[in-house]
Amino acid sequence: MRVYNTLSKRKEEFVPLEPGKVTMYVCGPTVYNLIHIGNARPMIVFDTVRRYLEHKGYEVNYVSNFTDVDDKIIAKANEEGVSAQEISERYIAECKKDMEAMNVRPATTHPRATQEIDGMIEMIQTLMDKGYAYNVDGTVYFRTRKFAEYGKLSHKNLDDLRSGGRSLLVTGEDQKEDPLDFVLWKPKKEGEPFWPSPWSEGRPGWHIECSVMSKKYLGEEIDIHAGGEDLIFPHHENEIAQSECCNGKPFARYWLHNAFLNIDNRKMSKSLGNFFTVREISEKYDLQVLRFFMLSAHYRSPLNFSADLMEAAGNGLERIRNAVSNLKYIMENNSAEDAAQNADSEEAVLTAAEQEILAGAKAYETKFDEAMDDDFNTADAIAAIFELVKYANSNLTSANSKELVQAVYGELVALCGILGLIVEEKEELLDADIEALIEERQAARKAKNFARADEIRNQLAEQGITLLDTREGVKWKRA
Ligand code: AMP
Ligand code: ZN
Repeated sequence: MRVYNTLSKRKEEFVPLEPGKVTMYVCGPTVYNLIHIGNARPMIVFDTVRRYLEHKGYEVNYVSNFTDVDDKIIAKANEEGVSAQEISERYIAECKKDMEAMNVRPATTHPRATQEIDGMIEMIQTLMDKGYAYNVDGTVYFRTRKFAEYGKLSHKNLDDLRSGGRSLLVTGEDQKEDPLDFVLWKPKKEGEPFWPSPWSEGRPGWHIECSVMSKKYLGEEIDIHAGGEDLIFPHHENEIAQSECCNGKPFARYWLHNAFLNIDNRKMSKSLGNFFTVREISEKYDLQVLRFFMLSAHYRSPLNFSADLMEAAGNGLERIRNAVSNLKYIMENNSAEDAAQNADSEEAVLTAAEQEILAGAKAYETKFDEAMDDDFNTADAIAAIFELVKYANSNLTSANSKELVQAVYGELVALCGILGLIVEEKEELLDADIEALIEERQAARKAKNFARADEIRNQLAEQGITLLDTREGVKWKRA
């Protein structure tokens, strides 16, 4: 498998630090409003990367933070006359709803900046002790020029940055030793949330958050660090500087960045006002269509949002869903004899001709994997799915054995599933089934099989069923 690494500007063979395991950190949103579909792009893209890595057999530890202390959150809190915490809690909850609606799986851990302040103070202290940071009147800065490799991710030349840097100075920052130095800790202003520290009562800078949370949940050196391409500079460059100077080892091996979601060829953003929230889009479209639209382009290509492209995505998804329901119909109404009962394996019941049809279908799975192995080329992977759809439509009829149809059906649903696309019609779960699943989940939790417990929770969530852990036991409700 080859992935494009922003660090080397090349596609590289993917080799994780530990065989069979992948540690992955994705910079998450600042929670002061509903997320827009530009923010949704990295969520969908890297959720798909995670699913594909799991499909390849890796155990993925996936961490994505919520930035819950920030100027914008404080401004919004002041506007509404509530606490910053109330704002961030509210929009974390809303963000999680949107993620679930887009079939973006929850991360292994979703750390929040405000709950990791101790770790940040500790890392800043280490940087101070090592001479990489200095304190001026309660503000702590990182001494950028002391890190010789600064600029290696964004491929920026330090001298150019420095000469351009003078104009980067903003009021109140004239105390910095160098314009390129950035803030690790800043003192509180009136009405802002703050924490005690050796330097001042205040709060951390944005970049230090991710260095600390990545280290705590994944270790000092990780496999993949990802986010939107606007984060390459300065955010990820600064994260590298902090982490590598503190830990004395390389931070992340592979840096993956998605290109922008645009509108009229301009980045969709809150500040330009040219955005649609995921919530707005969900009122007009099935969010599976949004997911399909996002994955129809390669993640490193800019993608322009338009009603036409969404319509095309809707039609594409519909074509796959029609094929899936057609196969299901054939399966349930086939005229071939059910030979499976006496056979040892699936293959054994297939005639030679059917085995050939199945091999033909499997070739598209190979094609799908080849596309995904080439830097997660979801556009080509979707093309392989379409070819499989065409193949199934023209090769399978109710005269085929149930086993053959089942195998192709399973393949099609599974390939879509790797992209997080739900193509099967929802079957209503009966109350008794739900209760049986809840019981199984309780047993799994007791046996510390949390993976199975989570799987059941997700399975129920996909059917719109929420679980509530109460004192009287687990209750559930339908959405
Ligand atoms: P923010 O809340 O602005 O820090 O953004 C959260 C994530 O969304 C980051 O990874 C950003 O790079 C990404 N992002 C924001 N706007 C866009 C966009 N228009 N297209 C793609 N990614 C975006
Ligand atoms: Zn980050």
